Amino acid sequence: MTKFKKQFEFSEKENAKTRGFKKDPVGDREAGIESGILHKYKGRLLVMASNKCAAYCRFCFRRNMQKKSIPNLPEKLREILKKDKSIKEVILSGGDPLMLGNNELQAFFDVIPKPLKIRIHSRMATTRPSRFTPALQSLFKQLGSRLIFVAHINHPDELNKDSEKIFRNLSKYGATLLNQNVLLRGINDSAKILAELSEKLFSQRVLPYYLHQLDKAQGTAHFEVPIKRAKEIFKELKELLPGYLVPRFVREIKGRKSKVWISTF
Ligand code: SF4
Repeated sequence: MTKFKKQFEFSEKENAKTRGFKKDPVGDREAGIESGILHKYKGRLLVMASNKCAAYCRFCFRRNMQKKSIPNLPEKLREILKKDKSIKEVILSGGDPLMLGNNELQAFFDVIPKPLKIRIHSRMATTRPSRFTPALQSLFKQLGSRLIFVAHINHPDELNKDSEKIFRNLSKYGATLLNQNVLLRGINDSAKILAELSEKLFSQRVLPYYLHQLDKAQGTAHFEVPIKRAKEIFKELKELLPGYLVPRFVREIKGRKSKVWISTF
C-alpha cells in the first residue's frame, strides 16, 4: 500500500493519551473559532467556511473540535469588512471550504470586495478532484489573480494527472498556487520524499509554502517526528533543493500572532 494512504486510516494508537497532546493544540477556541470568523492575524480574516472534509486526516489538529455549522457567515463577514478597512485578505478554511456548494461559495465571494485577496485552503485537488467541475472553475476564473489556492498535499504520490489538470486551469486563471504540508512520521519523514514532493508540486505549477511540525492534537502522537530528527530532515532537504523549492519550516504556538519559523542552525 502506498504510504500516503496511512494519513486517512484509523489506528488504535489514536486512543492513547499522550502528555502534551491536547484537544485544542493551537488555541482556536480562545481565538473565538465558535464565532466562525477569526481575526487571528493582522490584516487577514480567517473564516471557518465549512465544518466538513472530503477525507478525514487522522493527524488533523482540529480533529477534536466541535463540528457545529455556523449560520449566516457571509452576512457576518460583510458586516465586519464594512467596518474594518485594515483587512487585505480573507482566508476560507474549515474543514474544507470546497465542501460548500457553488452558490454558498459565491455568497462568500460576493461579500469580499475587490481588491481584497481570497485565499482558499483545500485538500480536494487530491482528495476529491471531481469537485473541480466547469461550474466551480468558472467561479475561480472570476477571481483571477485575487485567488490564492493553498493545496494541502503531504506526499508526492497524492499528485497525479487529475491534480495536474486542476492546477493548470487555476494557474491559467491567474491564481497563485501554494502548498503546505505536515511532517508525518511513517509518511513523509524523509528529505528524499519531501524533495520529491517539492519537485512534483513545481511540475504542476505549485510552490511549496509551509512544512509544519505536527500540532500536538490529542490522538495524533504516533504521527509526530521528534523535533531533533525533524530539524535534521529539514537541513538535509535544504541541501537537496534550490531555495525556491524549500518550504518554510514552521510550527504554530498558541497565542502567537504568526507562525513561528523553526531554526535549524
Ligand atoms: S482536510 Fe484539513 S481540516 Fe479536513 S481533516 Fe484533513 S487536515 Fe483536517
